[in-house]
Amino acid sequence: MNQKTGKTKKSESNRETLRHSTAHVLAKAILELFPKTKVAIGPAIDHGFYYDFEFVKPIAQKDLPKIEKRMKKIINQNLKFKKKQISVQAALKLFKKLNQPYKVELIKELKRHEKVEKVTVYQLGDFQDLCRGPHLESTGKINAQAIKLTELAGAYWQGDEKNKMLTRIYGVVFATKAALKKHLEMLEQAKKRNHRKLGKELELFAIFPEIGQGLPVWLPNGYTIRRVLEDYMLKLEKSYGYEHILTPVINRKELFETSGHLEFYQDSMYTPLEIDRQTFYLKPMNCPAGMMVYKMKPRSYKDLPVKMGELGTVYRYEQSGELHGLQRVRGFTQNDAHIFCTPEQLEQEFMEVIELFEIFFKNVGFHEYKYRLSLRDEDSSKYVGDKDRWEWAQNVMRKVLKKNKVDFYEEPGEAAFYGPKIDVQAVNVFGKEDSIGTNQIDFNLPERFNLHYIDETGSKKQPFVIHRALIGSFERFFAFFIEHHAGAFPIWLSALQVMIIPVSDKYLSYAQKVAKKLKQEDIRVKIDSSAESLGKKIRTNQKQKIPYMLIVGDKEADQEKVAVRTRDQGDMGAIKLAKFIREIKAKLAKFQ
Ligand SMILES: [Zn+2]
Ligand SMILES: [Zn+2]
Repeated sequence: MNQKTGKTKKSESNRETLRHSTAHVLAKAILELFPKTKVAIGPAIDHGFYYDFEFVKPIAQKDLPKIEKRMKKIINQNLKFKKKQISVQAALKLFKKLNQPYKVELIKELKRHEKVEKVTVYQLGDFQDLCRGPHLESTGKINAQAIKLTELAGAYWQGDEKNKMLTRIYGVVFATKAALKKHLEMLEQAKKRNHRKLGKELELFAIFPEIGQGLPVWLPNGYTIRRVLEDYMLKLEKSYGYEHILTPVINRKELFETSGHLEFYQDSMYTPLEIDRQTFYLKPMNCPAGMMVYKMKPRSYKDLPVKMGELGTVYRYEQSGELHGLQRVRGFTQNDAHIFCTPEQLEQEFMEVIELFEIFFKNVGFHEYKYRLSLRDEDSSKYVGDKDRWEWAQNVMRKVLKKNKVDFYEEPGEAAFYGPKIDVQAVNVFGKEDSIGTNQIDFNLPERFNLHYIDETGSKKQPFVIHRALIGSFERFFAFFIEHHAGAFPIWLSALQVMIIPVSDKYLSYAQKVAKKLKQEDIRVKIDSSAESLGKKIRTNQKQKIPYMLIVGDKEADQEKVAVRTRDQGDMGAIKLAKFIREIKAKLAKFQ
């Protein structure tokens, strides 16, 4: 059993066979409809398959239903997947005759790289394809009601931009029509929840080509939320004994030589700057400067644990094609921290980090996530540091996860080269796993920076170093947060908490009085004094996903009341302003 998905290997390989077999059906349908098309490759992927083609005349999205219809016809013909083994020579001859140059190229590569003498060819009706298999017995095993072609895209032959651009057709296939329907609904939801779309509609963030790709700008609404989060995080950490530092965005080259980043991480770093004959780099991580702060004075076991937090902004190179909204960016701010502790303190420190995760995720409204414990494998050459110390630390981590009774799974071989780690994995709107927080041990930096403390007996000892980021980065967190809540954030994290809507200008002065009272209580409030009708104003503000609308007119002004309309429950009737303030303050109290 795969602990992560709870699915057996066998069912996974069955699904893969189904997906891959359907790709052959797609290729056959294409050749029936567009006989001169050249076929390239068609693997199984998550939920479905794709196939790459070179068309004589380009096709468009509107052609997909027609192709899908033809696929269904092929499925209903219940054609057998017939396997035959033939010599490389015969295969080359066959695909040359069929005028399929991509297959010819693949066969030549197989011969060159894998030294094969024979290849397998599968025949589906009159369509012959070079393939390893396995396939379903016949096309009738595919549920014609459970396939759908989803997308067209360009893709270079063999992923190399020097090669020809082919047309890739994506499709999905499931065992049942209901499963297909569920998947398509998820895609529809994901589209609605897309953080780039909502980021624009709710004016949370923007990316300007003039400022730079992968360098998002936090707009007033988004930044308000970020500032609330920052304040909250710092306060929460302080209550757990953290102190906070802030280190510069550029650091000297020598620092990254000491840390090893220049040796092992340079691909993710930007070109250096020269200032007064010294070389500087934009920091890709906050750790090296953090190590310097630990090292600046002698530390005794009595000073430990030292917990040093930093809202540190780092810059890492990402290829332009990989950049995606707030999800993949080139500059971002981590809610970072380094914990320096003795071996005796390690368990307690891990315990507290898990506690922090639990508090934080609950308060931002995340309820479904798992902890992934990444461990070393048998290949000792992959890791730095003493094996026994690793094993010991891994056991401590496992013990802590068990003690906290949290949902976790182990992944041997997934540890970083410098230490084991615990990542928090949540499922995003596309049904895929995303890391939303991390907690790692480092056996490398304490060695490289020659860190120590003086123990009870007066001798020098190396401290354990934990890197921990509760919110991996504010940017990634925010992408996930927007999609998870579909923009309807918990009230304490809403940029605007209350919108006051006077039914006419006559009540503007009462609206202002209400706004003033709310502001005095630190509630984020605005007045909608636009000339629109009341109905239109309600709809507009509902779309902005503001938690509360307070409608004020004659009756409310007379009685010091407000008519409350909530985002989730609609009209709640009129209540005394003082009562509303008490209620909203009670909701916000634990976050202030
Ligand atoms: Zn195949
Ligand atoms: Zn670090």
